[in-house]
Amino acid sequence: MRELAARKELNASRASAHQRCWVSAGATGELAFGYHARVKPAVQARLLPAAVQEASRSTTLDLAQATRPLEVLPPNERGTAVLLVHQAYRFALDPAPRQRRALSSATGGSRFAYNWGLALVKQRLDARAAGQDVQVPWTLPALRREWNQAKEQEAPWWRENSKEAYSSGLDGLARALGNFSASRAGTRKGRRVGFPRFKRKHRARESCRFTTGPIRVEPDRHHVTLPKLGTVRTHESTRKLARRLEQGTARILSATISRTADRWFVSFTVEVQRRQGRPLRAASTVGVDVGVRHLAVLSTGEQIANPRPLERLQRTRRRLQRRWSRQDRARRAAGRRRPGRRQRVTRRRLARLEARAANIRRDALHKLTTRLVRTHGTIVVEHLNVSGMVRNRRLARVISDAGFGEIRQLLTYKSTWGGARLVVAEPFFPSSKTCSACGHVRAKLSLAARTFQCERCGLVVDRDLNAARNLAALVVVVAGSGPETGINACVRDCQPTGDGGRSDNPDARREAAGSQQPVRV
Ligand SMILES: [Zn+2]
Repeated sequence: MRELAARKELNASRASAHQRCWVSAGATGELAFGYHARVKPAVQARLLPAAVQEASRSTTLDLAQATRPLEVLPPNERGTAVLLVHQAYRFALDPAPRQRRALSSATGGSRFAYNWGLALVKQRLDARAAGQDVQVPWTLPALRREWNQAKEQEAPWWRENSKEAYSSGLDGLARALGNFSASRAGTRKGRRVGFPRFKRKHRARESCRFTTGPIRVEPDRHHVTLPKLGTVRTHESTRKLARRLEQGTARILSATISRTADRWFVSFTVEVQRRQGRPLRAASTVGVDVGVRHLAVLSTGEQIANPRPLERLQRTRRRLQRRWSRQDRARRAAGRRRPGRRQRVTRRRLARLEARAANIRRDALHKLTTRLVRTHGTIVVEHLNVSGMVRNRRLARVISDAGFGEIRQLLTYKSTWGGARLVVAEPFFPSSKTCSACGHVRAKLSLAARTFQCERCGLVVDRDLNAARNLAALVVVVAGSGPETGINACVRDCQPTGDGGRSDNPDARREAAGSQQPVRV
């Protein structure tokens, strides 16, 4: 009886977890499961009721099984929290040529449905503007109804792909329309969202999501099964996910296929039960200054260098970019519409190189953030207005390269998982202009100055280290509570900046873009 009540309570809280998750979904973080793993930030953290169940032992998990609620982990002797999180496991695929074509076909079908729906919406809007009384399909069910009526006529080949492919395209369109409406009504945070545009073949991201049908991780840990595509070999072992499925602490919610450069990926969205970690030094506080010269500088004085191979790649990338523009000029001079074979080769090489650079950078960020969360009870970072800064063109490239936004995104969910607390400084906290010894605030500090010199006490210190120390010192002022408040404190501290540093206020944005304060070069 008690068990039943516990199960009911669990399901009720899970329902609310889902709702909250979809509201705040949007930021996609990464977790270090090799280069190809992606993880959504922890969206919900709470203590599950302690109903003890025997873990299920199935090796594969299809959706019929997956819809079963998760078994609840028993609390361990230390009583650490069990977190229910949505996490994505991403694996590179190794498809056969026939499967490669099927993958392209599925994402192409998704794009076709999106464009078809958008054309329909536009046509209906025009008709309505002309005074006709017509329905404009604005939601997924409405769009799907229209599609099902029209597909035999519009796309007689539709059976070649899973019906989920089209549904996924229409879903994307419904979301885009919804975002446009919400943005116009002022109920959506962030930059204004324009009316959806058509997706072009070689421009749009190739991806498509499956939510029903056979979606499985095969027991050999080197194959996955997807609707209509069948069993596809994976480039790397799926053991990280397979183990959790076998233990019954995870269930697959959906699978998304996508292409980056020449490589296909599958990303499973998974509901996972994780036991919350504990930082090694719960009482320790560390300030993290994210930089450009270094990946980061810690208030402990440690400097984490940018990954070495990245700089070599940058040189190759510049060379290839020059080659590409030369070939493009030649193409235009010759009056050719499409790029020639050589130019396509250059473009492919560039795409591969950029994907590799992103992987290396992400790997370094993962290693850093995981280490921080495992070691320190409290981590203090700056509030960086990344979208504002990226619009400042001179800084745009270096900032995008350094993955400024990403580091905080990673810290946000990893701190919850690891039981650490993340504190984000106020948007305009002058971390680099303040003296970390006496608290004197300098009027200005040029971007080029590498050291901080205090006018009052004469302190001379590395600029980034000074900033990191100021951030670490901030936590005493801001929170004052012990690191044991773990989950709650994190939620409270992170939430106001949960939109990824974007600001609704255009003035604040402009100020951030123009001011030197939060940026150090
Ligand atoms: Zn001073």
